Amino acid sequence: MICKICGKEYTNELYYINVCSDKCYDKNYWLERINKPDEFVIIDGICYHIDKNVFTVFKGFGGRRFTIKFIDGIHKGETVVTDNLWYNGKVPEEFRIKLKDNAIFYSEEEKNNCVTCRYYNTYFDCSQCYGFDEWERGELNEEI
Ligand SMILES: [Zn+2]
Repeated sequence: MICKICGKEYTNELYYINVCSDKCYDKNYWLERINKPDEFVIIDGICYHIDKNVFTVFKGFGGRRFTIKFIDGIHKGETVVTDNLWYNGKVPEEFRIKLKDNAIFYSEEEKNNCVTCRYYNTYFDCSQCYGFDEWERGELNEEI
């Protein structure tokens, strides 16, 4: 048999998906995700999958509810609530370029957090990120 990833001939069928080794299995796993980028959620370099099958018995993270906001890709700007999110693993360094972060965890409580530093921020500019000036903010408000 010929490995579909590296093209080497192999005899020991380990995975039933035409790969020769653990290494090629992993590579195949991530290539599948690169080929279907919009089916996966990547937050802080961790890949997740939202299972949309409502009849499923076992749910990801024990059915914990997550609000996810897409920041890139075709779903950019969309917010999704799921109780069936599955952990797919940390994106290996070599695939980071093709599997960039495309979403953030998002909830009502987190809405006021600065998108850059995640610090709670109810001001116009985040006081943790920028040169913040209460006086300047007053002026900005007057203009609006
Ligand atoms: Zn191989």
